[in-house]
Amino acid sequence: MEKIVNLCKRRGFIWQGSDVYGGMAGTWDFGPLGVTLKKRIMDEWWKFFVEEREDMYGVDAAIIMNPRTWEASGHTKTFSDPLVECKECHQRFRADKLGEFGADVETKALVAAKVKCPSCGKMNWSEVRQFNMMFETLVGATGEDEAYLRPETAQGIFTNYKNVVDTVYPDLPFGLAQQGKAFRNEISPRDFVFRSREFSQMEIEYFVNPTTWEEQFEKLLASCREFLREKMGLPAEAIHELEVPENDRAHYSKRTVDIEFDYPIGREELMGIAYRTDFDLMNIQREAGKSMEYIVKGSTERFVPHVIEPSFGVERLLMAVLCAAYREEAVEGGETRVVLALPENLAPYRYCVSPLLKNKPELVEKAREVYATLRAKYGRVTWDDSGNIGKRYRKQDEIGTPKCVVIDFDSLEDGTVTVRDRDTMAQERVAVEKL
Ligand code: ATP
Repeated sequence: MEKIVNLCKRRGFIWQGSDVYGGMAGTWDFGPLGVTLKKRIMDEWWKFFVEEREDMYGVDAAIIMNPRTWEASGHTKTFSDPLVECKECHQRFRADKLGEFGADVETKALVAAKVKCPSCGKMNWSEVRQFNMMFETLVGATGEDEAYLRPETAQGIFTNYKNVVDTVYPDLPFGLAQQGKAFRNEISPRDFVFRSREFSQMEIEYFVNPTTWEEQFEKLLASCREFLREKMGLPAEAIHELEVPENDRAHYSKRTVDIEFDYPIGREELMGIAYRTDFDLMNIQREAGKSMEYIVKGSTERFVPHVIEPSFGVERLLMAVLCAAYREEAVEGGETRVVLALPENLAPYRYCVSPLLKNKPELVEKAREVYATLRAKYGRVTWDDSGNIGKRYRKQDEIGTPKCVVIDFDSLEDGTVTVRDRDTMAQERVAVEKL
């Protein structure tokens, strides 16, 4: 993990948030390469789940929502984690993460299991208390109105369900998709971007006739599987589906599958898919006093739809993509080559173009021409004329560029270029127009 974190920092993928001021715990900033990778992941998701399907629609709701949203959803009362403090060193921890404990863990369970403080090694725990993870903020010139930064994107979808039905009137089943920031005041943010206080989610609320939920759940689960393997290039053997047992599920959920990934930090939740019944729409119906019923087209049948929710965390997915792509290989001369074998659809750059020699104007001119053509065609193309060719290849390997194109003297004669492959290191001559 440390090697990947260092690579991300060194090459401009991800930096600690506000690092110039000593950082801000639980926040991360994306550099030129990181933002492209993140955007590629989010765009591929949008294309796969929204644009290529007839039954999905997008929304983009505000981050600051009417606080009644969080009353109705139960977040104000129950969106909390068990917090415990070490009375010796005053470090705070999420009590359930200190061992095999549930969210209702109490201090006596920590003591019985002889749990020691991970920071100072002593065993002197405070009482466990429930700590609400929503960030509060004040709205308005006099700051009299309290509000929250949304802790999930889902509620911005539910609150727009009625707007979509009234304006678009889609056939059931249909899904509403949203991508955007979410904020959680995590007790101990850790493991790089895995557990942050500010992160991005990609969520779908899929509205179904309750009689069909089982079949629709399976179909969505299969789509998630396909997306992770085919579009994100994650190896099947590193992905695991955990059927969450009833006592670990949210009380309203009748089925939840956590999709876990083998990260270097261990097997952890990458995303989840949950059958949320009519819990959210019923809450809104009660709190807002407006009917959330769906009237089946051409009939008098009406009911409040049930919901299946696939919920992806962008940073956890990005971290899985980076971990799956990272490799070190021994090369000639006893050296090690670092390769980020990112799938071509995700790599920040598809091509790197360079002249063999930087001080030969005719090579530079031809290379610039090829660079401009490829940029116009693919967008994600970079230029590199620093150092020698070997060094340029190593750098591009590290940032995951699948192909390096080099313009040499033969290129001026016959219009072909050398194309060097990141994964095999094989080189071939290709006509410029074939790129
Ligand atoms: P965990 O148990 O790891 O705290 P969760 O079950 O609370 O996660 P959900 O509420 O189901 O997570 O959120 C949906 C998705 O959002 C998660 O699967 C994960 O990908 C992402 N996510 C949740 N919390 C964080 C966080 N603090 N940092 C980064 N991503 C997160």
